[in-house]
Amino acid sequence: MREVRVRFAPSPTGALHIGGVRTALYNYLLARKYNGTMILRIEDTDQTRYVPGAEAYIVESLAWAGIKIDEGVGVGGPYAPYRQSERKALYKTYAQKLVDEDHAYYAFDTEQDLEEMRKRTPNAQYDGVTRMQMKNSLTLSGKEVAQKLSVGEKYVIRLKVPGKEEIHLTDLIRGSVTVQSSQVDDKVLMKSDGMPTYHLANVVDDYLMKISHVIRGEEWLPSAPLHVLLYRYLGWEKEMPQFAHLPLLLKPDGNGKLSKRDADKMGFPIFPLNWQDPESGHVAIGYREAGYLPEALINFLAFLGWNPGTEQELFSMEQLIEAFTLERIGKAGARFDIQKAQWFNQHYLRSKSDDVLIGYLLDSLKKENIDCSQEKAKKIVAVMKERVTFPKDFWEQGKFFFTAPVSFDEQVVSKKWNDDTVKVLTAFSNEIKSGSNLIAETAKDTLEMVTSKLGIKTGHILQALRMSITGGASGPDLMITMEILGNAEVFKRIHFAIKTLKVKVT
Ligand code: GLU
Repeated sequence: MREVRVRFAPSPTGALHIGGVRTALYNYLLARKYNGTMILRIEDTDQTRYVPGAEAYIVESLAWAGIKIDEGVGVGGPYAPYRQSERKALYKTYAQKLVDEDHAYYAFDTEQDLEEMRKRTPNAQYDGVTRMQMKNSLTLSGKEVAQKLSVGEKYVIRLKVPGKEEIHLTDLIRGSVTVQSSQVDDKVLMKSDGMPTYHLANVVDDYLMKISHVIRGEEWLPSAPLHVLLYRYLGWEKEMPQFAHLPLLLKPDGNGKLSKRDADKMGFPIFPLNWQDPESGHVAIGYREAGYLPEALINFLAFLGWNPGTEQELFSMEQLIEAFTLERIGKAGARFDIQKAQWFNQHYLRSKSDDVLIGYLLDSLKKENIDCSQEKAKKIVAVMKERVTFPKDFWEQGKFFFTAPVSFDEQVVSKKWNDDTVKVLTAFSNEIKSGSNLIAETAKDTLEMVTSKLGIKTGHILQALRMSITGGASGPDLMITMEILGNAEVFKRIHFAIKTLKVKVT
């Protein structure tokens, strides 16, 4: 088998989309599986769309996700430079070769010329039919062309796509793809600013960098036939990489492509890290900042289009490398189910050591200027662990461990707060009032004792008791919660609730 060399080749036109992270991941998995090389190439030939900061953002995102780059921007390597804008001169040589061998031509058409063409023939593209009516080196005499070039008239170089030919390619995911050359337009290879277009630069670099597999999003499939022609005309057909076009990421309901707008609307991130739009200054929340762990995101993304063919769902990066094959990537679009991402996050969060989890809680508390002993934090983490999805949840869902509630769940008040509740809570609080070091078992026994004395079912007052202590209708184990809060605090809270909700009862 050919040495596996794959590349992730983003354009620095803004924040990296989460789909881009999946593309990078699949490339990485293949590289690692076959002891190959993962390359990061920055495709920045479109100067009009260049966004400062985007390249650094890509590098940081991949590093955070655990996708390691062996060669490329930021790392270097034998085929440097890996930023296309720094390889400008190189593409020119190949474009010239194509012109010299009659596979490409100079086109001098102005914007206006092109507009007129489109007016003449609606939906017209620059191709075998229209090119002979245009201003290019196929219609002008050699002398005219030389003259235009010598005075520095603006031109582009276009590929001369053959008239009637079938272009075949084999895609590792889609199988055999055939396109009629008449469907392909004479794409611009070199722009008038002297920069290559994506198509030329991409093919030249994949060849020079000895890329074995091109793994990229499905949106690039329509460009693949054109790339096949370029490989052929440049005499590189034998070295052409294998193609694998990844299925689209679909909206959660499966209807259409996932967009940033959908993600915003449904309240989940679309970028791996926070991204501040350089123009508007608006900050879009990233997966990292939203509290997703990289291992959870990776596991989730791996399953968006690929499956191991078994029931196993939890995979570390190492296990993914082991199990990954391009053959198991499906053709169908992958529904982006954020709940699944949260499920993975829950799992990976729970499997962190207690020290790490305690650290999450203490970090949040620090931001709130709240002191907390290691011992208390440990107890809170232990009782909350099975309930949290994100690191910040220890604080967000456990605020009542630090501040007494000032308002109470309305549903519980209306359904569960009554004379019986007040009787039990009063008696219970009086029982525990004088003690110290309340422990969960004692709290439970005391409560049972009180309810049986009063002839009231414990089950009937439990939710109200929780509400008086936490303000909410649900939460972690109530007896342990009381243990963590201690006698005096529990007493105080119950009495505050009774006082506040008195009006309701009388
Ligand atoms: N620069 C292209 C992009 O931004 C790369 C496509 C490819 O991998 O060929 O997605």
